[in-house]
Amino acid sequence: MIELLGVHKSFGANEVLRGVSLEVAAGEVVVVLGPSGSGKSTLLRTINHLEKVDRGFISVDGELVGYRRAGRRLHELKEREILEQRAHIGFVFQNFNLFPHLTALENVVEAPIAHRRPRGQVYAEGRELLARVGLADKEDAYPRQLSGGQQQRVAIARALATKPKVVLFDEPTSALDPELVGEVLDVMRDLARTGTTMVVVTHEIGFAREVADRVVFLDAGVVVEEGTPGEVLDHPVHERTRAFLSKVL
Ligand code: ADP
Ligand code: MG
Repeated sequence: MIELLGVHKSFGANEVLRGVSLEVAAGEVVVVLGPSGSGKSTLLRTINHLEKVDRGFISVDGELVGYRRAGRRLHELKEREILEQRAHIGFVFQNFNLFPHLTALENVVEAPIAHRRPRGQVYAEGRELLARVGLADKEDAYPRQLSGGQQQRVAIARALATKPKVVLFDEPTSALDPELVGEVLDVMRDLARTGTTMVVVTHEIGFAREVADRVVFLDAGVVVEEGTPGEVLDHPVHERTRAFLSKVL
């Protein structure tokens, strides 16, 4: 479903992704771990066109998202193609990024309405999505009237509203008070169970252990180690993985 091959990305002289390759199968849940600054957010953002890669190849469901190999002839996507492809990729941000002037339901239906889908159907689906994340009674609430956990659940419903092929999560619980983390992880667990293809950047090791099919450890812009949760979390091979885990476990 997702394929990255030799993806490089620099900001000025700072080479943040140094040849990242990663494959995610349909229905698979991949958790990405790594120290702060290792390139996790940049990695997700390149998949979703929020950052352009310098070289390498990215595709989502066979559609080219990134560029051709080795920087020779880059395949530049047009803005229109980018928007088209982004609709197939849900993104959940650390800080929710809801529109403050729109209600919960309006936040959820905004993208499908912008894609000119029929209003009645879009609103009905939006209500179903809010029910699915446990917020059927909050459709008219504005973000400021909701807790962080509720806002993030609205954001997840919004990410699902375009019926994406994959959903990317960038530290979805890091901005939450500890007592609100569980309700968001519950929603994500439910998504994983129903076969959603997910890439999740998180420090929630318990979630990784329970839900991930595969865990990827990124450090300094390279995939240092990947495997099942049991392999990476309980029997890490690389010293850098061990050092990281000893800090977060
Ligand atoms: P992580 O999510 O693992 O903490 P990031 O991908 O956010 O790491 O950042 C990796 C590195 O890239 C950091 O050194 C960060 O300062 C740098 N970086 C990220 N985004 C930008 C940007 N838009 N401009 C310049 N530097 C950036
Ligand atoms: Mg980050």
